[in-house]
Amino acid sequence: MKAPRILLLGGTAEARALAARLHPGVELTSSLAGRVPDPALPVGNVRIGGFGGAAGLRDWLWDNGIDAVVDATHPFAATITANAATACAELSLPHLVLARPAWEPEGVQLVRSNSAAAELVARQGYSRVFLTTGRSGTAAFRGSDAWFLIRAVTPPDPVALPPRHELLLSRGPYEYDGERTLMREHHIDALVTKNSGGAMTRPKLDAAADLGVAVVMIDRPALPPGVITVAGVDEAVDWVAGL
Ligand code: NAP
Repeated sequence: MKAPRILLLGGTAEARALAARLHPGVELTSSLAGRVPDPALPVGNVRIGGFGGAAGLRDWLWDNGIDAVVDATHPFAATITANAATACAELSLPHLVLARPAWEPEGVQLVRSNSAAAELVARQGYSRVFLTTGRSGTAAFRGSDAWFLIRAVTPPDPVALPPRHELLLSRGPYEYDGERTLMREHHIDALVTKNSGGAMTRPKLDAAADLGVAVVMIDRPALPPGVITVAGVDEAVDWVAGL
C-alpha cells in the first residue's frame, strides 16, 4: 500500500521531533511560516511561507495530493490551526493537532490576552517586568510606565515597544540557574508569559516561584471544536501509523 502523504505544520520542537520519527518512511512535507531568520529545520522535505488563508491551504493540500495533516504548531498559533481545521474539513482529510500539555503552575494570575496582562501589570503596580510573550506580544505594553526586560527570538517593531526597556534577543531552551540569575540581577518583580507549555521554557516559572516573582500568564486560545488532539510525539506517530 502507498505510504500516506502528510503535511506537517511546524515551527516547534515537537514538529521537528515528529519529522525525525516519520522520515523517511512517510512521505512528509514540513511547513514553516518563515517568521524567523535561520529557523531550526526539520529533516526531510520543507516548505516555507504562508498558504494564503484557509482557502489557499485547501488548494495547496489538493494540488499536492496530501492525504492527512498534522498540526504541530505552537499552541498560540491560532490562525493557522483554525485554517488547517477548516481546510481539512472541506476536503474531508484526516487531521490531527499535536497540542503539548499546558503548564499548570500554582499561584499564577491567569489572563485572556496581552492587553489584559498589561492592565493587570498596571493595576498591580509592577515596576520591573520580565516580558516573554514574543515579538507580537509587546504592543499591548507600549503605554506602560513600568521597566521591561523583553526577551524575544526576533526584534519587535520599535513602535510596539514600551518606552523603558532592555531587549534580549535569544532562543530557548533555557535553564533554571540562568533564568534565576537573569531575574535576580534585573530586580524583576513580575514575569509575563504565555501558557506555552513544554520543558524548553518552563524553568522561568520555577525560578519565579523560588524568587517570589509574581507570574501573569496568558491563557491559551481555544482549539477549533471537534479536532482530534494528542499531547505528544509518540501518540502522533501512532496516529500516523493508523492512517
Ligand atoms: P498564526 O498567527 O497562527 O498564523 C499567521 C499566519 O502565518 C497563518 O495564517 C499562515 O499564513 C502563516 N503560518 C503560520 N504557521 C505556519 C506554518 N507552520 N506554515 C505555513 N504558514 C504558516 O501563527 P504565529 O503565531 O504567527 O506563528 C507562526 C509560526 O511560528 C507557527 O508555525 C508556529 O508554530 C511558530 N511559533 C509560534 C509561536 C507563538 O508564540 N505564536 C511560538 C513559537 C513558534 P497564511 O494564512 O498565508 O497561510
